[in-house]
Amino acid sequence: MQMSGKKVLHMERFGKDGRLIIPLGQRKKSTKKTDEEKVRYVVTESYCPNGCNIIDKEYKINGVAGLRIKFKRPGMEGEFVLSAIEGDFDKIILSGELQDGVKDELYCPHCGVMFKKLINCDCTPCADMVIIGLTPKLDFNNAISFCNVTGCANGSSIKSGDVIRHARLRGTV
Ligand SMILES: [Zn+2]
Ligand SMILES: [Zn+2]
Repeated sequence: MQMSGKKVLHMERFGKDGRLIIPLGQRKKSTKKTDEEKVRYVVTESYCPNGCNIIDKEYKINGVAGLRIKFKRPGMEGEFVLSAIEGDFDKIILSGELQDGVKDELYCPHCGVMFKKLINCDCTPCADMVIIGLTPKLDFNNAISFCNVTGCANGSSIKSGDVIRHARLRGTV
């Protein structure tokens, strides 16, 4: 892990329609990458556990329609749009505020159902890897997962299969 303790929230950002685009956490900068790591995939469909499509074509991040998600924690709720590009930490905050290092529960913005959780993320004791299916009926093998703690290195989407594989390597599943 080369994430150091310092995380910078860049508040300067644009938005054609005046909305804030806030990159949360730092992108992992690595000089040497394996070919496998260079491959980025883009999520084009994603669904809540009840089958609502949460891709919001109104909000594009780096040219790609993002995943709209509702968040709640004690005293705060809102909505953000998560980048559909693997490894991209950019988010558009539509309402409310996210706080670095703080966990939010994540819900479907359409029907309000809570997204399922795959495993615990090891960044903080209560953190979860939330799972979002790429098919209307949730299939754990065809899904993406990310940590529900703002600023976590696992905060961008990764394939659920990779999460399961890494967890098995660590012996936590
Ligand atoms: Zn829904
Ligand atoms: Zn985490």
